[in-house]
Amino acid sequence: MPFNILTQTRFHIITLGCPKNTVDSGDVKLLLESSGFIHTEINDADFILINTCCFIDKAKEESINEILSAVINKQSYQRVVVFGCLTQRYRDEILNEIPEIDAIFGVAEGEQILQYLQQSARNTNPKKTIFLPSNKVMSYEYIKIADGCDRACTFCVIPSIRGRFRSIHKDRILKKVLDALEKGIKEIILIGQDITEYGKDLNNYRLVDLLNDITAIDADFRLRLMYLNPTGIDDNLIDIVAKNDKIIKYLDIPMQHSEDRLLRLMGRRGSRKEYLKLIRNIRKKIPGVTLRTTFIVGFPTETQEDFNSLIDFIEEVRFDRVGTFEFSPQENTKAYNLKGQVPKRLKVERYDTLMGVQAEISYEKNKEYIGRIYDAVVDDIDENSILARLDSQAPEIDGATIIDLRNEVMPFDIQIGSRIKVKIKDCYEYDLLASIVKSDVKDAHP
Ligand code: SF4
Repeated sequence: MPFNILTQTRFHIITLGCPKNTVDSGDVKLLLESSGFIHTEINDADFILINTCCFIDKAKEESINEILSAVINKQSYQRVVVFGCLTQRYRDEILNEIPEIDAIFGVAEGEQILQYLQQSARNTNPKKTIFLPSNKVMSYEYIKIADGCDRACTFCVIPSIRGRFRSIHKDRILKKVLDALEKGIKEIILIGQDITEYGKDLNNYRLVDLLNDITAIDADFRLRLMYLNPTGIDDNLIDIVAKNDKIIKYLDIPMQHSEDRLLRLMGRRGSRKEYLKLIRNIRKKIPGVTLRTTFIVGFPTETQEDFNSLIDFIEEVRFDRVGTFEFSPQENTKAYNLKGQVPKRLKVERYDTLMGVQAEISYEKNKEYIGRIYDAVVDDIDENSILARLDSQAPEIDGATIIDLRNEVMPFDIQIGSRIKVKIKDCYEYDLLASIVKSDVKDAHP
């Protein structure tokens, strides 16, 4: 690469919010790196990029705090660039409130961010000229297969921010998969707002075709699917997950509620009866499947009776993983103006109750792992421990499998991305404690 000012300019990306933002940040990072910029630690960066999120109030608060902290702590040579969902919606308000921000962009504006950095870099006197390795080795990588959403959930801002549903062409996806595998990635996570819709805007090429094409690649890797709208899951999809060894038997199916009246108010399709039937069908065809879902508590008009029925549903199904949100009204959504908003105090109470019920279920389920041996992939290593994951644990959102190295000798061949066999010794509500049974050097990162 020619030695010019751009090759010396450094950036750092802070990603807030959901895994979808992680994918967007990955795309921006790739674009900047392929244009000669270097990703580095925040203190060495000339540009601090913050990818914001506004899905719930907590996420907004976190984004604002992160921006404030960056502009307060930035050095005179550093510039703060903010992008993502929050700035897409509140661009003017944020600029008014935090004028120290150097540049602001919305979602999917990677090209514009690149242009801004290129123009600004020519006026920058970069602080350092030493090359720093940019990539932390990872065992997994998210690959977005679609953007936007055509559904009209009344609580959700995504369709107005991300626009109509658009499938990404299979050639681009396959190229990204091959690039990831070449880097030694062992787990590819296909992601989209609702990947069951994949291909509806393509000519006769649907999610199952994409899964067949990806898993036909002759390499050692696994595929995880996120997120599947319950009403979009059909027998073809269940069958391929059941039969294809490369697809992890883990399904993330956001249900949001169990009660039909609330599902209708939320603009969701399906019913409690249909959801139960779907779960029975999945469990019958995919023995040992891990099921994750999310619920919203305190949606407008949710009565105590509705909430109690939701708890009954959770106790009946015994999901492996449950994520919960307190309903938080978002401007420009139908639910914002719905009558019967639930007081904050009740939302918190219901959130705590639901999480308490699920914590017990999760603990009971985790105890069933004790004494058994599983395959795990290594996500991180330090001198005292190894952080690994079973198939039943998705990165960043579920618990982990922890191996305490203070009582055992670390096999010399283990690296991030290695597959190891672990024996589960104990558990908490979400994490598992394990010891190493065997490692396989062939599976380590190149
Ligand atoms: S399916 Fe509903 S909740 Fe999910 S992104 Fe689309 S509108 Fe939002």
